[in-house]
Amino acid sequence: MLGQMMTAPLLISSLIDHAARYHGATPIVSVETAGGQTVTTWGGVAENARRLGSALTAMGLEPQARCATIAWNNRRHLEIYFGTSGAGFVCHTINPRLFPEQLVYIINHAEDRVLFIDETFVPLVARLRDQFTTLKAIVLMGPMTEAAAQAIPGILSYDDLVAGGDPAFEWPQFDENTASSLCYTSGTTGNPKGVLYSHRSTLLHSFAGNTADGLAISARDVVLPVVPMFHVNAWGVPYCAAMVGAQLVMPGPNLDGESLVRLIDGERVTIALGVPTIWLGLLGHAKAAGSRLESLQRTVVGGSACPPSMIKTFRELYGVDTIHAWGMSEMSPLGSVNRPLAKHRDLPEAEQHRLRESQGRAPFGVEMKIVDEDGQDLPHDGKSQGDLMVRGHWVLDSYFRMGDQPILRDGWFATGDVATLDEDGYLTIRDRSKDIIKSGGEWISSVELENIAIAHPQLQDAAVVGVPHPKWDERPILVAVPAPGETPAPEDLLAFYDGKIAKWQVPDKVVFIDVLPRNATGKVLKRNLRDQFSDILTG
Ligand code: AMP
Repeated sequence: MLGQMMTAPLLISSLIDHAARYHGATPIVSVETAGGQTVTTWGGVAENARRLGSALTAMGLEPQARCATIAWNNRRHLEIYFGTSGAGFVCHTINPRLFPEQLVYIINHAEDRVLFIDETFVPLVARLRDQFTTLKAIVLMGPMTEAAAQAIPGILSYDDLVAGGDPAFEWPQFDENTASSLCYTSGTTGNPKGVLYSHRSTLLHSFAGNTADGLAISARDVVLPVVPMFHVNAWGVPYCAAMVGAQLVMPGPNLDGESLVRLIDGERVTIALGVPTIWLGLLGHAKAAGSRLESLQRTVVGGSACPPSMIKTFRELYGVDTIHAWGMSEMSPLGSVNRPLAKHRDLPEAEQHRLRESQGRAPFGVEMKIVDEDGQDLPHDGKSQGDLMVRGHWVLDSYFRMGDQPILRDGWFATGDVATLDEDGYLTIRDRSKDIIKSGGEWISSVELENIAIAHPQLQDAAVVGVPHPKWDERPILVAVPAPGETPAPEDLLAFYDGKIAKWQVPDKVVFIDVLPRNATGKVLKRNLRDQFSDILTG
């Protein structure tokens, strides 16, 4: 017997319809690529999304045609998110920091039909466009400029396209499992691989994101997604915000500390989301500028491990609650969020703070386990560490156009992370499996050593990698970036580890570097560092 309840497909168009209907006047602030700020509303975003959906349909695109973007976080990008998916096309966000060859590969592999670009990327696209084999149109996100018209003959204007669209366009209805958006992961080896999200997975992910133990975004929030819209759909924030009608502040191209502090204070931002490096810049500037970050209640930090010293600074200097989250492109991305339990309320304060440092617990919709090299389950005791496996409603099943290459193990996805899980399900990421250091048969977590080093006042940035050692196979070295104007002594940096970790885990050597090599999503390229310093302990 079936239940006798209404059913409707879980479609992204229903999110923007809701935002327009019940939060139509809520402002959306956008920093424009050409400079300056504009203000629209959820109602305005929804109208332009419909206009865009109708214009793309009128172009004769086939259902689920991929419409790509190379763009910053701004209101046009938001309209494209809803206009493309809402009309049954696939919104394919592209990371502009990819190598040009990868960018060409991705656009051709995805068979993109339309490419929307911010003005910043006109020179890049002009250089590469002869190599794009499937595009029907390139669209400039803004009014036409002479420079763009000259550099890319035939380029269309987004504003003209939208102006010519139908504001009464009816969203098509289709199966909720239909593809909605596409994001390629930028691995450190091989070609990028596409993760193809569905309308259903996106909506379920939004429900989970908005729970009180998730990101808890609400209609009372002013949300600043600093995490780029080309990185796992800005962690799903545009969809979460539409679902509850939160106000959005789109930061545009300038993500330096000064610009972000100005936006937070000026727009009274309550929640900001981004990777740790961004917050290092922000905290540095807030201190120098004397800002109290008065309106900010919480920051969500993920993408790489959040150093405990950052959580402390946010809490003690600004009264901001840092929510440490973990996830990956293959998980839409939400995997875990660190929130306390009722039983933690009576613990000593220092212990409560320590508990906030891990990557947190899985929300409903995600399951996790850790396994050893033979795939056997390991206990959730906070000590045993193994390969982290996940499954759930918004976890990928296979990569885009690689469906013939099964990747799951007994229905579980191997994350490539090495982790522990405790009795309450709190996850601690020890390392990427390829970055963990094996010294004399014992494991050393590079993340743990980095978290300590980064708290040293004379350092701006730090990475720890394992390099070959004649006796121990591999030993850790600290690759340190001094803070401006500082010349830290290696012995002081190593002494900083005293009492914080076991002596045998302390790095063997310190090397200094001006800047850490990072991939397109800001992750440190440890392989490059390992290569660069491969003979430093043996040579
Ligand atoms: P991406 O698919 O580019 O988002 O990268 C996902 C990977 O980033 C994960 O598998 C982790 O290795 C790493 N990562 C993401 N969030 C965290 C976090 N909070 N702590 C440690 N590593 C993280």
